[in-house]
This record gives sequence, C-alpha cells and structure tokens, in this order.
Amino acid sequence: MSPARPPVSDARVSAPPVSPVPVTLTGSRPRNRQKPPRHLADLDLATRRAVVADLGEPSFRAVQLSRHFFGRYTEHPDDMTDLPRGSRAALAGALLPPLLTAERELSCDDGTTRKTLWRGFDGALVESVLMRYPDRVTMCVSSQAGCGMACPFCATGQAGLTRNLSTAEIVAQVVAGARALARGEVPAGPGRVSANDPSAPPRVSNVVFMGMGEPLANYANVVAAVRRLTEPLPEGMGISQRSVTVSTVGLVPAINRLAAEDLSVTLAVSLHAPDDELRDTLVPVNRRWPVAEVLAAAWDYAAVTGRRVSIEYALIRDINDQAWRADLLGSLLAGHLAHVNLIPLNPTPGSKWTASRPAAQREFVRRLESRGVPVTVRDTRGREIDGACGQLAARARP
Ligand code: SAH
Repeated sequence: MSPARPPVSDARVSAPPVSPVPVTLTGSRPRNRQKPPRHLADLDLATRRAVVADLGEPSFRAVQLSRHFFGRYTEHPDDMTDLPRGSRAALAGALLPPLLTAERELSCDDGTTRKTLWRGFDGALVESVLMRYPDRVTMCVSSQAGCGMACPFCATGQAGLTRNLSTAEIVAQVVAGARALARGEVPAGPGRVSANDPSAPPRVSNVVFMGMGEPLANYANVVAAVRRLTEPLPEGMGISQRSVTVSTVGLVPAINRLAAEDLSVTLAVSLHAPDDELRDTLVPVNRRWPVAEVLAAAWDYAAVTGRRVSIEYALIRDINDQAWRADLLGSLLAGHLAHVNLIPLNPTPGSKWTASRPAAQREFVRRLESRGVPVTVRDTRGREIDGACGQLAARARP
C-alpha cells in the first residue's frame, strides 16, 4: 500500500458517507474448529482408489463411486446397484458422506431461477443459485460461509466470515443443481431452446464463483473445485473450463497464482470504481491492492490465459455512476482484453443505496462503448428471492 494515499476517512465521496469498515484482508482466519468430512470430491482419482483399497475393496469401485457422484448424481447408497449390497454402506461412508443439507428452496422467474439455502455439517449456512436460460444453465456457487471482504453494498459482506468451504462442499452445490435438472425439477421457462438436441436432459453448462465468499481467499479449495468440476468423468464432472468464472475483489497475489495454474477459466474482477478514493470505500481491500495493481494483475492474467477479463461494476446511484467515472474507467480499460459487466445495484437490507437512474446507466454504457470497451448489463435474476448479486446472506428464516 502506498503511504501517500489518504486514509479512508478523508475520502471525499460526493455522496452519502460510507460508514468506516474494518479492513479484513486475506489473512482473516476462518475459525476452523473442525473440518468438513472427507469426500471423494476432495480427492483425485488415485487417492480415491487408495481409500477404496484400504477398505479391502477392488480399486475400480472408486471409479464406480465417482460415476455415481459426478455423472449420475446418485444420492443414496441403496441406489448404487452396481456395487455389492454388502459394500455400499462402507464405501459411501468413506467417500460420500453427506455434506450439505438443503434447508430451503426459493424459486422465481417461472421456476427457472432457484436459490437453495444449505446447512453444513457444523450448521454453517451458504446459498447457491441455479439459473436456467434457453441455451444454458448457470450455477452460482458459494466458496465461503460468509465473507471477510466487508464491501458495504453487499449483504454477504455485512455478517463477516464464518469459514471456508471444502472442495467437496463447493462441488456438491453444482452436483445438486445437476441432479435437480436431471430429475426435471427445473422448468425450461419461456424462450426457444437452441441446443442441437432439445430433448436431451439439460446439464449445468456454466459455473460462476459469485455466490457467498471471496473465492481467492479460499484459494486451494477453489482451485481444486475448479479441477474437479472440469475434469472429465470419472475424475470429475466434465464442465468446460471456459464456462467457469472465478470472481474476486482483487487479491493480487492470488490472481497471479491463478494465472500460473494452466486453467482456462474466466477471471472476473469486482472493480466498482475506477479511482482509489472511491474504491477504498466500496471494496475495502483496495487499501491493500489499489486499482492500478489489480488491473495490472488482470492484464497479466489475460495475457497468460488468452481469456478476456470481466470487469464487474455495480452501478450505484450518485455514488459511482458519474459520466467522468465512465470516462476514467474507459480510459483504464481501452485496448485491453476486457469486458465490462454492469450490474444494476440490487437492494440489500439496511443499505440506503440504490440502482442508477436509467439515463445515467445509458450514458455510462455509451461512454464506455465510445472508447471501444465491450459492455453488457447483467440481468437482475433472482432479485425477488434475494438471490441476485450481493443479496446472499443465508439467514435460516427469511
Ligand atoms: N467476493 C467475490 C465473489 C462475489 S461475486 C467478488 O466480490 O468478486 C458477487 C458480485 O456481486 C461481485 O461483483 C459483487 O461486488 C457484486 N455485488 C455485491 N453486492 C451487490 C449488490 N448489492 N448489487 C449488485 N452487485 C453486487
């Protein structure tokens, strides 16, 4: 952090003051009392084979179990009829312990958006959101219970961090979505299906790490989850790496590490302001890694992976939606492998902020486009069920 930069309390924000929030950086240690039970999705296939062999079973049972979990989404050991009846309980007990229990499901958008509240082995609560579109299905998953990044406009940030999710707890959210689709529980909704075979059961095509938590603050488990999700059966679930997006507040060392992983996942950076003065207040971790450093890491990521970086920008009325900020953002991004995803601010409890006026949003888009920066405005799927960006707070009772 540059010592010349003003403390946050001096920031002149041309808007309602932001209450000072403690900077909780990546060092925020989850109070990890007990680890979630070991599950086959935590392990590579060779280790799964070794666990099975230790039980005195032939090691190919590891492949059978893996196909049940990643490919058939089988829930109950009794349904694993290709395993000897007498071995099912022991095998499932060792490699398929229950991890997340669905506590509540909420749907909207004619049932095509569905938010699930999950309870972990220790009572920790997380949420995931499935969004079915005519041509794809996106699962938005949580990487942590709560979040330590304390962004004041995000509901998850308000309650702080409870703990990291394990690799398997992350993967299990996607498998649960795939199971719901395979069982026909998620309607297709209106709109034409452009798939080659419209009668084929829908699959989870995209995964976004945009639920609760800061994925890069739970680095090892998130990267392992990406590998499990994208490795082909029986090692993993076989989703394309290019259809996975990891979103971050901008933890620069972790972005650099991710670039070196040899993964083709999309990086999304939650920028929300082009200037440090405002970003220090909206994304407190900016005081540690300011805009210039975050963008430099993003351009390195784009250069190494060849993937266009997605710049997330929640448009907040009279806070970050001024024309001059659009111009500044445009000048920072022009000529880079970047795409701006504008998110009309979703309401969160206790926040006085609201989405930008339509005219301000249109002008923001126009100014970015005039500099040749590609822009899209994200839909507000899931708003009515508090399932949209920044609304996941995982309360047991609504
Ligand atoms: N911690 C990661 C992953 C969360 S992604 C990150 O911040 O990138 C969730 C996205 O929704 C982030 O871009 C976040 O800044 C944004 N967001 C948070 N609160 C929001 C709100 N109230 N309205 C719109 N977007 C919001």
